Amino acid sequence: MKLKCPICKQPTDSETTAEFPFCSARCRERDLGNWAMEKYKVAAPMMDESEPEETETNEPAHPESSGSDDE
Ligand SMILES: [Zn+2]
Repeated sequence: MKLKCPICKQPTDSETTAEFPFCSARCRERDLGNWAMEKYKVAAPMMDESEPEETETNEPAHPESSGSDDE
C-alpha cells in the first residue's frame, strides 16, 4: 500500500516504511505535535460571543371562556 506522508508529502510504502503512513519517525512525531496543537486550539475558550437578538413576546394564551349567555 502506498500513501503520501501526511507531514512532508513524500511517497511512503507500507511494505518498506516502518513508520507508515509517515516516511520517518521524525514525521510521525511531528504529527503527534500537530495533534497536541489541535487539542490546545479546541480547549481554548471562544472569545467571540455573538448575542442572539431575538425578542419574542410570549403572550399568555387566554382561553376563551364560553360562559353562559342567557338572554
Ligand atoms: Zn515525512
